Amino acid sequence: MKTDKVIELDSQYILQTYGRPGFVLERGNGVYLFDLDGNRYLDFVSGLAVNAFGYGDYDVLKAIEEQAGQLMHVSNLYHTLPSTRLARTLVEGSFADRVFFCNSGTEAWEAALKFSRKWGNTVAGGKNRFISMNNSFHGRTIGSISTTGQPKYHQGFEPLLPGVDFADFNDLASVEALVTDETCAVLVEPIQAEGGIHVGTDEFLQGLRKLCDDKGMLLVFDEIQVGMGRTGSMWAYQQYGVEPDIMTLAKALGGGLPIGATLMKQHVADAIKPGDHAATFGANPVVANVALTVMDKLQADGLLDDIAAKGEHLRNRLEKLQQRWPEQISEIRGRGLIQGAVVTDRAPADYLTAFRARDILVAPCGTDVVRFLPPLVVEKDQIDEVVDVFDEILRQS
Ligand SMILES: *Cc1c(COP(=O)(O)O)cnc(C)c1O
Repeated sequence: MKTDKVIELDSQYILQTYGRPGFVLERGNGVYLFDLDGNRYLDFVSGLAVNAFGYGDYDVLKAIEEQAGQLMHVSNLYHTLPSTRLARTLVEGSFADRVFFCNSGTEAWEAALKFSRKWGNTVAGGKNRFISMNNSFHGRTIGSISTTGQPKYHQGFEPLLPGVDFADFNDLASVEALVTDETCAVLVEPIQAEGGIHVGTDEFLQGLRKLCDDKGMLLVFDEIQVGMGRTGSMWAYQQYGVEPDIMTLAKALGGGLPIGATLMKQHVADAIKPGDHAATFGANPVVANVALTVMDKLQADGLLDDIAAKGEHLRNRLEKLQQRWPEQISEIRGRGLIQGAVVTDRAPADYLTAFRARDILVAPCGTDVVRFLPPLVVEKDQIDEVVDVFDEILRQS
């Protein structure tokens, strides 16, 4: 089938909720994607922070193949080996004591909301309000949009879930002002990704931890995009010296297959009883086996240091570009291999088009940010190539 035909059928049969560019991706290899017409793209999107090891990683493929041949799915009515091993790996490698598995980011977030409310309503004596952040992003189901602090995701889907108050990110006083006797949890991304790559400050996240301890509230971190090594540490919270009570994961965890996980401390787990929550596919044997492989690979000697070093390199090169083009780029924001350039002269979409014309894929976020999210296995010279092309685009604007 030809490119034009695929795009025609897409517009005829698929619900048009996405604006997609005019090519059809057919295969991938390493950090490169290839379309139906044989064009090769250097991928700095990684399937939205999913493909940590790029395309066609041998270990990921082997984990799928071996487990698919052995046992693919039996539901969570039964014990299976991969999900149990994955749970142990996640607990031993994080702040958490327990894990709940599901299939996506928004589902992991919904579970975090339910567990927080159950804890608040039972253990904490009747608290069920949330404080979430303006400009946040937590997914597209009703509970997730209700706790997402961006009105554009709410419009037309009202009424939203009641009991949500919005504070300003990195403004501790604005959170303190909203705390009531009914607040059960403070919800935050340590680094706001979709909202435009805003990095939480130490004072803010440490202040939230103390506030939650003082007022008897849970601290819930959404690390769906920035966890799993993206920032140069396994979890973003490790860079702040702060542990949450609940943390959500998805995206990179499944190596390209869908999985979500909600991690929690034992005091939260104590509020949850058999039957309180469930997911038919949650950590099915195949995706769980892949996630185990992903975690093993991330924990391999030197990888996180390597990610941090490459992130530093990307950051330094982008900052030099910002100094050279201050009229076009006002700021570089990010940590590790999630970096954003705030562009002021034209829409991020225009930059996307310009990058694509030079066979590079990047993704916008917020209202004015060009986001760089390469696979974690990206090489230094590929980073240089992307920044050099960015320089060229800026020179011609
Ligand atoms: C992507 C994302 C989600 C939603 O994940 P889905 O798998 O698309 O449902 C939630 N929170 C954050 C921080 C995300 O980046």
